[in-house]
Amino acid sequence: MTEIKLYNTKTRSKQVFTPIDARNVRMYVCGPTVYDRAHIGNARPVIVFDTLYRLLRHEYGVEHVKYARNFTDVDDKINARAAETGRDIRDITDETIQWFLDDMGALGALEPDFAPRATEYIDQMVAMTQELIDLGHAYAAEGHVLFAVESYDKYGILSGRSVDDMIAGSRVEVAPYKRNPMDFVLWKPSDEKTPGWESPWGRGRPGWHIECSAMSRELFGDRFDIHGGGLDLAFPHHENERAQSCACCGENSYAQVWMHNEMLQVEGKKMSKSLGNFFSVRELLDRGIPGEVIRFVYLSTHYRKPMDWTDKKAAEAEATLRKWRALTAGIEPAANAASAVVACLADDLNTAGAIAALHDLARAGDGAGLKASAALLGLLGDDLGGWDVVAAAGDGVSARIEALLADRAAARGAKDWARADQLRDGFAAAGVAVKDTADGAVWELLPEFDATKLEGL
Ligand code: AMP
Ligand code: ZN
Repeated sequence: MTEIKLYNTKTRSKQVFTPIDARNVRMYVCGPTVYDRAHIGNARPVIVFDTLYRLLRHEYGVEHVKYARNFTDVDDKINARAAETGRDIRDITDETIQWFLDDMGALGALEPDFAPRATEYIDQMVAMTQELIDLGHAYAAEGHVLFAVESYDKYGILSGRSVDDMIAGSRVEVAPYKRNPMDFVLWKPSDEKTPGWESPWGRGRPGWHIECSAMSRELFGDRFDIHGGGLDLAFPHHENERAQSCACCGENSYAQVWMHNEMLQVEGKKMSKSLGNFFSVRELLDRGIPGEVIRFVYLSTHYRKPMDWTDKKAAEAEATLRKWRALTAGIEPAANAASAVVACLADDLNTAGAIAALHDLARAGDGAGLKASAALLGLLGDDLGGWDVVAAAGDGVSARIEALLADRAAARGAKDWARADQLRDGFAAAGVAVKDTADGAVWELLPEFDATKLEGL
């Protein structure tokens, strides 16, 4: 078995990963708040932790790894969207969840083993809130329940801040019912127009952070291996999750390794609606960029570095994948992934290094090794669609090639070798790689593909 090393935000160092139970490796990743299409930044943790999930399954066995990613379906942004549109909250969240699964599926992300919705775990959140009150770590005030940061001396350990620095450096909401400005909400009251559940503190709804603490405990128990999300979540979300869970279940509980992906920007700038560089994954897919190309671009940058989405990178990724797809078309993957690729991934998910190792396999003409190794990064899978959109490019290239292949088969059947050879040479000149397999001919467009050269054939 390969030794896996992961960078742990909590210890600020790369450490050998030793699961609590190698037969039940557990990873929890904070998922989206569901009121709108996922933007391209949201796809980064999805792709990063999907790749880690694949590596863990490869090392520990598919049945020994469990991955949970939640859907936050109770949130004031969702309530605001419902008020603006007059739509039912459940319609909005159901629709957005399906969009998310479709869009992330197009990027080759496997579905996690568990996809808990916050609204289905309200009882567990209420119970955990009550436990925190009983233990003296939380207090009820004016229909709210707040976590008392001063009751927990490790508060700040994950993000490396002290409570005093936090107060000095942030614009925290100072509410009369808070004992300390950093105290955060576990439960808050709801009026009649706002979704709410009965609780010992009146009708209300949970604060954001408590959901991950309660859901991971229900699914994974008090301790689990890896907790992931974007770096923007390290504080306050993860600091607060950790404080709640460790105050409730013991200092050694909750996640053992904390992993955070750096943020994504677009053409060198922070994404923002006002700059007009804010787009959804669906918009990229609709522009005809195959999901696999998007995935490749993301994996070309190490997850702990800021990542820039550029059209140039997408074009380069597309050219590489076309070559690799031509090389692996109709080929059975090798039994094992190349050790160089596994070694890179095991080194704190060095996906850029793994891609360099894939290039080496391609240069050596090892299609079978390339296919098996690329699968660890979720690339070159037969089920990854989107290429037909590019190939067709609005002009029926696929249909034209299929017709010419049928023509070639007929020529061969009639022993018309001159015509068969003419078609073979024509494909080569146009940049179409054709391979004959037991199931018939398969084809792939090469980077030099030129549709006009198919016309006279
Ligand atoms: P949210 O729905 O805002 O809670 O975000 C869902 C996930 O996307 C979280 O893990 C965030 O950290 C992550 N995320 C949001 N924006 C970006 C970005 N620009 N780059 C990378 N990750 C992001
Ligand atoms: Zn969370």
